[in-house]
Amino acid sequence: MHSVMRLGLTGGIGSGKSTVAHLLTQQGAALIDADALSRATTAAHGSAIKAIEARFGSAFITPLGELDRARMRTLVYQDASARHALESIVHPLVQAETTRQTEIAIQAGMHCIVYDVPLLVEAGRWRSQLDMVLVVDCPPELQIDRVMLRSGLTRTEIENIMASQASRTQRLKAADVVIFNGHQTLDELAGEVRHISHRFGL
Ligand code: ATP
Repeated sequence: MHSVMRLGLTGGIGSGKSTVAHLLTQQGAALIDADALSRATTAAHGSAIKAIEARFGSAFITPLGELDRARMRTLVYQDASARHALESIVHPLVQAETTRQTEIAIQAGMHCIVYDVPLLVEAGRWRSQLDMVLVVDCPPELQIDRVMLRSGLTRTEIENIMASQASRTQRLKAADVVIFNGHQTLDELAGEVRHISHRFGL
């Protein structure tokens, strides 16, 4: 079998993870998006829906057959055991799908598989399946500006999300490689990704 680099990609909200992930796919990497896989399990008739209904009741499932996210968010915010129960349903499903997509990428001959995992540092379970961790680092003020531009969130809402995530220092400590996404243009960022991608087997 050819050698494969399993590269974890992480960074705080709005740091530029998705942008870097996309640039890496342009260099020939396969991309596995952990958030998208997780959301898919709780979308209409997703693989987690039956187990969530059995554990939490049908009040948590909308008439369309998807997770009632607002209701679940309120519950897990107040009740750590409910959060735990939800995670114990969703995580194994995400893991199984990650393994399946990894096998497909290897069979397709990909040399680098990028795992975009926003909470990689917070959720220790990812590290053992990765060869390297790439952190996209961004000054907090720029993170806030970029997320405010992109979403309807207020500064305070964004600051609260940032406070709930790993700190910049914790993330940098977990990094094997750092891409600093500060005030450079998107073209300059693309150049940096091209320049560094040989380290990832690309
Ligand atoms: P999230 O955690 O919220 O999913 P993210 O880390 O994936 O965010 P991106 O979606 O890649 O971040 O970037 C956030 C926003 O900032 C996007 O609109 C993106 O186009 C923009 N952006 C990222 N890097 C730069 C840059 N160097 N210059 C200008 N805009 C940028």
